[in-house]
Amino acid sequence: MPHTPAALVVGAGPVGLTAALALHQLHVPVAILEAENENRQRPGSRAIYLHNDTLRLLDSISPGLGFVMARHGLVWPVKRTLFRGRQVYMRHYPDPPSGQLPPFTSLPQVEIERYLWDACRAAAIPVHWGERVEKLEISGDGVKAVTGSGKTWIGPYVVGADGSHSEVRRQAGIGMEGMRSANTFIVVDVSEDVLEPLPLERVFHYAHPAMDGRNVLFVPFSGGWRVDLQLFSGDEVSAFAELSGVEGWLPQVMAAKYAQRVTWVSTYQFLQVVAERLADDFRRVLLVGEAAHLFAPFGARGLNSGVSDAVLAARAIALARQTGDEGGRLQAIDAFAEERLRASRYNRDAAGTALEHIQGESPGMRMKRTAGALLAPVWNDFGRWLDEGPYGPRSGPPGVSTKY
Ligand SMILES: Cc1cc2nc3c(=O)[nH]c(=O)nc-3n(C[C@H](O)[C@H](O)[C@H](O)COP(=O)(O)OP(=O)(O)OC[C@H]3O[C@@H](n4cnc5c(N)ncnc54)[C@H](O)[C@@H]3O)c2cc1C
Repeated sequence: MPHTPAALVVGAGPVGLTAALALHQLHVPVAILEAENENRQRPGSRAIYLHNDTLRLLDSISPGLGFVMARHGLVWPVKRTLFRGRQVYMRHYPDPPSGQLPPFTSLPQVEIERYLWDACRAAAIPVHWGERVEKLEISGDGVKAVTGSGKTWIGPYVVGADGSHSEVRRQAGIGMEGMRSANTFIVVDVSEDVLEPLPLERVFHYAHPAMDGRNVLFVPFSGGWRVDLQLFSGDEVSAFAELSGVEGWLPQVMAAKYAQRVTWVSTYQFLQVVAERLADDFRRVLLVGEAAHLFAPFGARGLNSGVSDAVLAARAIALARQTGDEGGRLQAIDAFAEERLRASRYNRDAAGTALEHIQGESPGMRMKRTAGALLAPVWNDFGRWLDEGPYGPRSGPPGVSTKY
């Protein structure tokens, strides 16, 4: 006997949970299929930075959720940038206004997911664990999904939120376009020492002298720190990434006690890729989050843009269900797909700009960084330019056009 929700969300990561909440809020009956089991452990800090826009979107689909995230996260009041050990920029921020959502909040992704889960449970959204989607049959009438357990699921729409190796995307015949960054990055989480915590500041070092000129980024989140070491292309990755390696280099850049407080180490090269299309030919499958795009994390565009994808996909499905004719239905899904494709390409390119800014090896880019650091003490704009490197362009992607 097939199961028949009006919308099926494949993947219970943060983006799938957001899509399910947004659909529920728009009165679209929804169910989630998740490949893994309920008792899974999700690793590492990963997406620790939620922008104000994301908090507002989350609050709009589940009243109070943005404030819950903000309450459990932190806002650092200071950011600093150093170049070869010398400070070139520092900025203090005023306290965020009370009673309003802050400009951002920083908390581990595993906690973000916990609060999304709480909201999904409160909304009684059905979740089917251990149901890996293996096959989709897509037609003009809807989608039939078959999971590894042999069950079938039939519904008019599927939201593919099944992450970077998306089976939904593969079944819809949609490829990815883009490239992989050349250098490897080591991401280390350490837990904070609550008795003697470090000052709350985001600190970026260009060419850290204790790391033979490699870049190092420190980002606080509730309960700990993320230390991001950017390797040179010829580096032997394992020498830095194995726990013994981390215990060797971490005390060069942080108090020695943090080498005993490592909770997660991850090594990766960034993919900078976007799906060719965000909806299939029949406009029955919508791709969101990492199923649709993978960016370098500079500017925190991954999860943040995934939340926008998810909310807009839900609005498009709700609108498509309301319109009486096929033309209106196609238009609603196309508006989502075109808008989020533009945003995804923008975000991919913006994250690429950030990568080039902080680690581009052309003589011109090296000279710009060095000249910026030399001029920063006399002209603050140069220090600010260096400081903005890890974020990429300040502007956001083109405005949201999907109407509801
Ligand atoms: C080291 C690191 C640092 C990061 N830092 C940031 C950051 O600072 N800011 C930011 O915004 N982002 C960051 N990101 C990216 C962020 O973690 C991702 O954007 C986010 O996890 C993507 O969420 P998602 O829901 O799209 O996919 P996922 O979290 O991958 O979830 C996909 C879900 O789908 C399930 N699934 C997979 N296949 C199937 C199937 N066939 N059937 C059913 N279920 C399936 C999976 O089990 C999983 O639960 C970082 C990522 C990494 C690795």
